[in-house]
Amino acid sequence: MRLVRVAVPVPALDGLTYSLPDDVPLPPAGSRVLVPVGSRVLTGCVLGTNGGDANGIEHASRVKPIVEILDREPFLPEDVVKLATWVAEYYACGIGEALTTAMPPLAAGKQGARAPEFRTVRVAHLTAQGMDVASGPGGPGDDDVRLGTRQREALALLLAAPDGLDTAAITSRGIGAQALSRLASLGLVTFSRRRIERDPFAIGSVESPREIFELTTEQKAALTSLGALADTGQFHAALLHGVTGSGKTEIYLRLAAAVREKGRGVLLMVPEIALTPGMAHAFRSAFGERVAIQHSGLSDGERHDQWHRIRRGDVDVVVGTRSAVFAPLANLGLIIVDEEHDSSYKQEESPRYHGRDVAVMRARQAGALVVLGSATPSMESYQNALSGRYSLVRLDRRVLDRPLAEVRIVDMREEYATAGPDVVLSATLSEALADRLGRGEQAIVLLNRRGFASSVLCRQCGATLDCPNCSVSLTVHRAANRARCHYCNYSTVVPKACTNCAGPYIELIGFGTERIEADVKAQFPHARVARVDRDTIRKRGAISALLAKFARRELDVLVGTQMIAKGHDFPRVTLVGVISADVGLGLADFRAGERTFQLLTQVAGRAGRGEIRGEAIVQTLFPNHYSIQYACRQDYVGFFHQEAKFRQAMQYPPAVALVNAVVKGRTHQAAMKDAAAVVQALRNNPMPAYRVLGPAPAPLSRLKGEHRAQFFLKGPHRGAMRQALLGALATRPEIKRRTIVDVDPVSVL
Ligand code: ADP
Ligand code: ZN
Repeated sequence: MRLVRVAVPVPALDGLTYSLPDDVPLPPAGSRVLVPVGSRVLTGCVLGTNGGDANGIEHASRVKPIVEILDREPFLPEDVVKLATWVAEYYACGIGEALTTAMPPLAAGKQGARAPEFRTVRVAHLTAQGMDVASGPGGPGDDDVRLGTRQREALALLLAAPDGLDTAAITSRGIGAQALSRLASLGLVTFSRRRIERDPFAIGSVESPREIFELTTEQKAALTSLGALADTGQFHAALLHGVTGSGKTEIYLRLAAAVREKGRGVLLMVPEIALTPGMAHAFRSAFGERVAIQHSGLSDGERHDQWHRIRRGDVDVVVGTRSAVFAPLANLGLIIVDEEHDSSYKQEESPRYHGRDVAVMRARQAGALVVLGSATPSMESYQNALSGRYSLVRLDRRVLDRPLAEVRIVDMREEYATAGPDVVLSATLSEALADRLGRGEQAIVLLNRRGFASSVLCRQCGATLDCPNCSVSLTVHRAANRARCHYCNYSTVVPKACTNCAGPYIELIGFGTERIEADVKAQFPHARVARVDRDTIRKRGAISALLAKFARRELDVLVGTQMIAKGHDFPRVTLVGVISADVGLGLADFRAGERTFQLLTQVAGRAGRGEIRGEAIVQTLFPNHYSIQYACRQDYVGFFHQEAKFRQAMQYPPAVALVNAVVKGRTHQAAMKDAAAVVQALRNNPMPAYRVLGPAPAPLSRLKGEHRAQFFLKGPHRGAMRQALLGALATRPEIKRRTIVDVDPVSVL
């Protein structure tokens, strides 16, 4: 009997050991097996074998046997198994969860080996006989006494459609399904299924071939340095710090082409593909069939199919979001992480990995070059560049020497003093909008808060309308006439009277994007205005459609949340307005200043990317806050040094490593008591290589009905902190089940 270590898709479980009879060949690492777990049988992934020998293993006789081996060849490539193993250890999660993230959809169970299913439609065609009848001398079917009017109409339609017709299109003309089946029973019509192509990034949808530019001197120099690093064939990490509009995409493309030519694979990671379709299209037109684009609009079947195309080696360039870091690309030579500072690279559920950091580890394991690109690098990456761990490559100027947008700050305290407390669009911004719209130019207005009003307040008793499940107030959505929780999605009708004291003096406090959209429309009734936030883009494809419309200049103003600040390239946008630039600064999060700086710099960078110089107008109550000041000067390095001082003084990353632990409980007291027990165990460590802070109620002290207590570990070595925390939790499994461990947290709410 031999023993095999298997990862199973059960949260927080380590690898399990199973047995195999001596006469069965050992399955290789990365292959899938069916194994019993408790009373269930699950698909697991083989991690390895201990030399095939069961001797010396305690309780070997109690080890359960593998039920079935699904693959004889590794299903997951060995390097991806290795990467997932690293993720499980680094982020302190179960190996099964990490491997599940690396698996394609539908991989569990035997259906994984089956052909994927695609969205198809039913199509009706004329048979040869049907063709004869339909094209008869008296008109379609006229000389055939068996046929009724509807059936003749159907024949006429099909005669005009040599490729057949979607049956839904036929029935939508009042021709019932019965008429079609009757035609089929007479042998005049047959049916088939046709796959529908709805992938907006599929081949064929590229609107125009790309222009070939002569690179600028700066671009050439950057490409040369990066190319040299790629040519070494060894691991290197480089930070490409290029201001907005400096032409980073062009560098990515040429670098990718060079690496591919050498026969190595390329992975491009982007925060969200639908938000930056330009990048996907650029890669699609450069690499055609050899590129796979993984975006959220794909069905499981399409994703599965793509995964296998990559695995077979039909594809050597992959463009995708954070989970693409596990793509089964062979012989990886280059990983590019675009907008590396973007927080969507961090997965906020287990496994809580950071796509950028996993990308660096994957490049290290593959001996590849990893390029992190951004106009506003994360504190971590810039620190690594300064310390020499990463090479620093800079693009300080926009292409064609286009100037960065001129930024003006509007002090809203003064605005309120003159125009009253209800003003949303300052006079400066209104005038600028009128001016730009009058000239046929486009504008973007950003407010990083959804909804119409931030809360409902009773002026009689002072109560706010709060979520029953979470410690936040409900946001008013006027179009839906509901007050909604943005954390758990609870919603209720906006009340006419106070739910606490029944008083009738209800007031809406604060405002969100829905209100901005309404105000802009009211002030500029002739402007074509659209809103982009999570409420307006719920439907699949809605975001791509809106952005495409804006790009075609069928819209004048785009109002939205941070979604409209990401790497877009709209050359006709000359004005960017920022409402409440300080929205994020009030949050109890050590990254608040960094996030605000990034958001403002990025959104200002959307203005003036074409021939006309752009301007940005930033409204705020804190005009002197350093994040806002440095963003308005678009001075990244100045910001970095100021922020680094704060992180050093307060001992936050990147000055130290941080682990965030949140213990959930049914009551506030229970959560705090359990957290205190774990903290006590951590403090009992005689020689701790870390500091423990807390426990304290988490900033979101209640979430989805659970109470949350929080504590932090800070110190120089993640390994020591992880080990101590897992050790402390191991003695209290019932607490461990209710504890979230977040290594290198991005959000600490
Ligand atoms: P970034 O990602 O650095 O903000 P982009 O890659 O989007 O910048 O490039 C900004 C714009 O400049 C795009 O419209 C791009 O097509 C154009 N561009 C890039 N390189 C050149 C060049 N060498 N000459 C002219 N235009 C260029
Ligand atoms: Zn809630």
